[in-house]
Amino acid sequence: MHRDAAEAPASPPTASFAALGLIPELLRAIADQGYEQPTPIQAKAIPVILQRRDIMGAAQTGTGKTAGFTLPLLQFLAPQANTSLSPARHPTRVLILTPTRELAAQVEESVRLYGKHLPLRTAVVFGGVDIDPQIKALHAGAEIVVATPGRLLDHLHQKTVNLSRVEFLVLDEADRMLDMGFMPDIKRILAVLPPRRQNLLFSATFPEEVRRLAKELLHAPVTIEVAPRNAPAELVSHLVYLVPAPRKRAQLVRLIRGRDMRQVLVFVRMKRDANRLAREIQRDGIATQAIHSDRTQAERMQALEDFKQGRVTALVATDIAARGLDIEELPFVINYELPHAPEDYVHRIGRTGRAGMPGEAISLVAPDEMRFLEEIEKLLKRKLPRGGAGRDDEGARTPRGHVPARHRGSHRAPADERRAADTARPAFDFTRPYEPAPAAPGPTPPQSRPLPHHAPRSRPTAALLGGSGSRQSHKKS
Ligand code: AMP
Repeated sequence: MHRDAAEAPASPPTASFAALGLIPELLRAIADQGYEQPTPIQAKAIPVILQRRDIMGAAQTGTGKTAGFTLPLLQFLAPQANTSLSPARHPTRVLILTPTRELAAQVEESVRLYGKHLPLRTAVVFGGVDIDPQIKALHAGAEIVVATPGRLLDHLHQKTVNLSRVEFLVLDEADRMLDMGFMPDIKRILAVLPPRRQNLLFSATFPEEVRRLAKELLHAPVTIEVAPRNAPAELVSHLVYLVPAPRKRAQLVRLIRGRDMRQVLVFVRMKRDANRLAREIQRDGIATQAIHSDRTQAERMQALEDFKQGRVTALVATDIAARGLDIEELPFVINYELPHAPEDYVHRIGRTGRAGMPGEAISLVAPDEMRFLEEIEKLLKRKLPRGGAGRDDEGARTPRGHVPARHRGSHRAPADERRAADTARPAFDFTRPYEPAPAAPGPTPPQSRPLPHHAPRSRPTAALLGGSGSRQSHKKS
């Protein structure tokens, strides 16, 4: 296997889906979704995938990458799509691996949406739920299987899935999969796949482990790199409050109330802290749920649905649980604790400022977290604005952009109003892919920039996973 340094040709961002060569059934599904034009990753990836090339995609959730790989794969399957009841007529030809249950469920939902005018079958496979319905779905035949590695291996051991006809493999969020210790599982899965296939690898970052995997897996891949979608600089504003740890909770509650937040994602590092904080602010009268890897799949799905529907105001999450969450128009992200890896800050704030709506990322920073703030500022190449000069009563100030909720119970101000209110505040440049913190700050020309690469993380995996468990205990998903 070898790689070449091919770059995807720059497609004009205004190219239509039809110009990308997609078939009418897919164009109809896209129109049903209301998408008017391809996102940058779609414009770049779809033609390359249709040419049967392998892809190494530097893109995170929120860029539209799911449609970017799903649409061309559906197009490949379309000629054999059929309504036969025989499982033999529905061999598994596409395998999509994701790190988390949430992402698997979301990807499968997308596959169904984009494939709704084609008689193709999809099965989703992840742990933490009853295996029997999955066995049934696999037994009936499914051209597309979306899976987390642990549960897929269970099915392989039980011989309830047949991967001998797979022609297309997608590894989604490869960096997170490797972070979660899935490498051995992925290797075992690769070993049972037919060697001749098209491989698509997507990752937000490219640490050495991901590069090694890419080298093994991909044949002459085309590299595609895009910045997160719909998050141009002016759409996410940042604010830092310097707050001693014991006063954070009061500050959080004051912010939620004072700013009349109706939908806020609150980040902590450890799952036990997520539980505790959720309980505490629930007691303070704010409808809150925690979402992390120890909760059952049903509980996580329910919490997310309650949040999306506006029944829950605050969702307290660990980094790992929030990765891949697709929450449209999330107005606020609060970092109750800063992440220890600065790129996780970027992932966290990537949850807001999406779908063209402005968002705000607020961080409560205790004195002992200053070094993490400095790391983040180094990565973003700018100092984040401070609010309140250390006072913890800032939340009570006049709410910016205070207007009634108008979307799924979330509190959004009209874009113009919020943008005007935000103009005084510099924001992170989302139009650029993020990079490792340089030794000395200074812009690198985007053309010559290598794929984002981060040195192996030194922090313990348990912290990353938001808990005290070992890799093994978190691995099966
Ligand atoms: P993803 O990065 O795949 O998680 O997609 C993020 C969000 O973008 C999803 O909610 C999609 O429904 C939406 N989306 C994907 N492609 C487009 C498009 N071309 N235009 C508008 N929205 C899109």
